[in-house]
Amino acid sequence: MPRRLRGVYARRVTQERANKSGFETRAIHAGYEPDPTTGAVIPPIYASSTYKQDGVGGLRGGYEYSRSANPTRTALEGALASVEDGERGFAFASGLAAEDTVIRALTRPGEHVVIPDDAYGGTHRLFDKVAKVWGTDHSAASVADTQAVAAAIQPGRTKLVWVETPTNPMLTIGDIEALATVAHDAGALLVVDNTFASPYLQQPLTLGADVVVHSTTKYVGGHSDVVGGAVVVRDLDLAEKIAFHQNAMGAVAGPFDAFLVNRGLKTLHVRMDRHCDNAEQVVAFLDADPRVTEVIYPGLASHPGHEVAARQMKRFGGMVSFRVAGGVEQALAVCERAEVFTLAESLGGIESLIEHPGRMTHASVAGTDLEVPDDLVRLSVGIESVGDLVADLDRALG
Ligand SMILES: *Cc1c(COP(=O)(O)O)cnc(C)c1O
Repeated sequence: MPRRLRGVYARRVTQERANKSGFETRAIHAGYEPDPTTGAVIPPIYASSTYKQDGVGGLRGGYEYSRSANPTRTALEGALASVEDGERGFAFASGLAAEDTVIRALTRPGEHVVIPDDAYGGTHRLFDKVAKVWGTDHSAASVADTQAVAAAIQPGRTKLVWVETPTNPMLTIGDIEALATVAHDAGALLVVDNTFASPYLQQPLTLGADVVVHSTTKYVGGHSDVVGGAVVVRDLDLAEKIAFHQNAMGAVAGPFDAFLVNRGLKTLHVRMDRHCDNAEQVVAFLDADPRVTEVIYPGLASHPGHEVAARQMKRFGGMVSFRVAGGVEQALAVCERAEVFTLAESLGGIESLIEHPGRMTHASVAGTDLEVPDDLVRLSVGIESVGDLVADLDRALG
């Protein structure tokens, strides 16, 4: 075997072995074998920008320059591919960097994308203020309404159908299998932003999606200590396009960030189960409380997407939204009175967060079709003692 292929080959073998294992085993082991020289059990932080060549072009394990490939990032990328049941994973500096790479790798000026009518704010901004200027335009449709998504597709022009499920902050559910069929029938690819579910609860590629994107800042990283993004695909032609743009545009995850995200990924399943346990108890409390007018959680039988969510998700996640009696003033007061729940944006970390979408994450969509109710409060339920979380909400509701 040519020397320069050895490292790549070893990684593929690791990958194949790991793919046959359970999710938890893959989250911990996929993408990395203990270092052959030192035996390091965990991927070291390779803080090296460049690599010694054994004669001109004689790369060791394919490493040449750290924008193109870095061993710490390679380990994370292998693990991400494995937990999403994909073939190739790519790690980026942020979720939006990952999204930008997908848009520019897979569309051309003059082409069109269908996006969720309640897309993550940064995703909407990327399409509306960046991709559009570049020449790729978009239409919005509700991911819960497969027919509306189909109607928004412009046959021949639409190259991507882009969905989130669950969405933010209304936790709308899209039927990934049905959406994949609609996209493929029109010759488009289905992209799923899997940030809210995480690969532990939902694996879109196994349901027909072509591309998965993540903000690994959220559940995958899981500790609110790093910003990162990911793309995972199965198709090797798509992988080649993403790989080319990842290197050409260069918004890669650095080795320190890749290390942190990989460290988070190894405990995703343990954390996520506790996020779900705690969210279920918080939902039960809120649902029975007269100070709350509506609880939005895909695990509730009353949620319009419950049946689809039950089919495509292992559990229903750690995000909970609710509306309060007493309107916007009460919603703001609840956010400000909470003590265990920290008043902050973002989500998916070990610590519980509370926010008012109307004035915080979704302030920029006020007055548009994307406006959210002003009596809405969003929780990212963390993994603290659940009794403390419920008591905090009880107190905060006043
Ligand atoms: C946070 C988030 C993003 C953007 O990710 P960054 O890491 O902040 O760039 C994209 N999609 C969803 C659903 C998110 O929650």
